[in-house]
Amino acid sequence: MENQEWILCPVCKNKTRIRIREDTVLSRFPLFCPKCRQETLINVEQLKISIIKEPDAKTQMTDNSLPKRTIGSFLFYCFGEKIQEKLKM
Ligand SMILES: [Zn+2]
Repeated sequence: MENQEWILCPVCKNKTRIRIREDTVLSRFPLFCPKCRQETLINVEQLKISIIKEPDAKTQMTDNSLPKRTIGSFLFYCFGEKIQEKLKM
């Protein structure tokens, strides 16, 4: 008989309804836990389960574009005003 195991939820450690065999290979499998109702992306190979953590792309995009623009316009505002003052004098 082949070796089979129930996948345990990485969040609450309860048994899910997914069973894997020794030769089961899963790649980026959305594991849904009926107990805590959380979905976790996992990889499975040779009964070893590894959890995939996806980086939040939305926050990264705003972090890269917005602050630089804000600082740039702020600097322009400060120096622009100083230059105007010098020109007046
Ligand atoms: Zn769970």
